Amino acid sequence: MNRPQRLVILGSTGSIGTGTLDVVARHPERFEVVGLSAFQRVDELAAQCRRFRPRVAVVPDEARARALRAALAGVPTEVRVGADALCEMAAAPEVDSVMAAIVGAAGLRPCMAAARAGKRLLLANKEALVVGGALFMQAVAEGGATLLPIDSEHSAIFQCLPEDRASWDQRIDHLVLTASGGPFRARDPATLHDVTPEQAVAHPNWVMGQKISVDSATMMNKALEVIEAHWLFGLAPERIRVVLHPQSIIHSMVVCRDGSVLAQLGTPDMRVPIAYGLSFPERIESGAPRLDFAALSALTFEAPDARRFPGLQLAWDALRAPAGSTAVLNAANEVAVAAFLERRIAFTAIHSVNAHTVETLAGRLGPVSDVDALLALDARARAEAERRIRELKP
Ligand code: NAD
Ligand code: MG
Repeated sequence: MNRPQRLVILGSTGSIGTGTLDVVARHPERFEVVGLSAFQRVDELAAQCRRFRPRVAVVPDEARARALRAALAGVPTEVRVGADALCEMAAAPEVDSVMAAIVGAAGLRPCMAAARAGKRLLLANKEALVVGGALFMQAVAEGGATLLPIDSEHSAIFQCLPEDRASWDQRIDHLVLTASGGPFRARDPATLHDVTPEQAVAHPNWVMGQKISVDSATMMNKALEVIEAHWLFGLAPERIRVVLHPQSIIHSMVVCRDGSVLAQLGTPDMRVPIAYGLSFPERIESGAPRLDFAALSALTFEAPDARRFPGLQLAWDALRAPAGSTAVLNAANEVAVAAFLERRIAFTAIHSVNAHTVETLAGRLGPVSDVDALLALDARARAEAERRIRELKP
């Protein structure tokens, strides 16, 4: 392409959103930011609009739109409101690429819109794929979209896989997702009941948004990533495995039929997978610090402890259960994590809310033949998780 790549960033004020703008700013000749969105931090969105001058910026309500318009006097950015505006921005004809960096199932509709419109879809928003599942992949195929994983594990696997997609099933034995184990990897499971939100979001290796940080502490993040890998790479659940690797240097691995193992390594900096998604199949400067092998003391591995991380197994269970089960698991977890961050439930109750909700809705999921049905199921699961939370004492 001779002209710059025209990019929309959904969730531009978050950790992935700002990382994306950091990479983009290093390559002004390659990228033109045409759309940005934020949910709460209007001041930060205004600063981004002044710097990158997108055509459109989307906020969730009129009050924030007024504040943003006032802050953008003299800047030629049209301020739009609401979820439909997000979808329209993601599917607009002049857009080449969409970075999906909203957190949670709220990102599903704009992701689907970008997929149906055939965009180059850079997917950080793993919950959208966990909820959307087969319908999401169908929209990608029918729309002719290019789906590029941004999650570091999936980017690692994508970088290790041969280009010929049709050969994956034959050449690959299984995938190994690495997991740091989060802040509580070595903590006595008997003491997990008392951990605070501050302790749970203090990740040892990565700086991330609050929700994914809590998910890393419970390892529900890895559970969501197992489901994500299943859809992205089309492998059966039993061909996706997880190993703890506390240094977060190996970002994931592909084990071939002949026993050969391919891995992707780097410092834990999301700008690497972001830059790869932005430039694929080329490579551009990401700004990430380089790996210093002489300074690396050791790369170690261990099996995840099911007593400490009971939620991990829910991934394989949900993938083997009827369609819609992964959407229920995701919805319960979003509600449970929010309740934990609001100090309404204990850390260990996140798993009990998730397991309870999945169990309660199993057998009465109903058909999930379109996105509306999936989102209705998502709403039912949220209501059940909330009901359970009200029953629990913090
Ligand atoms: P974050 O909380 O830092 O940012 C989330 C962004 O989404 C913000 O811009 C926020 O304004 C917007 N947003 C939040 N709720 C919204 C809603 N209901 N509607 C519209 N917009 C909304 O989160 P993050 O850490 O950047 O993560 C974003 C996504 O990327 C998540 O799905 C996460 O799992 C995934 N991811 C993040 C990392 C990381 O290092 N942060 C790594 C891998 C994958
Ligand atoms: Mg990840």
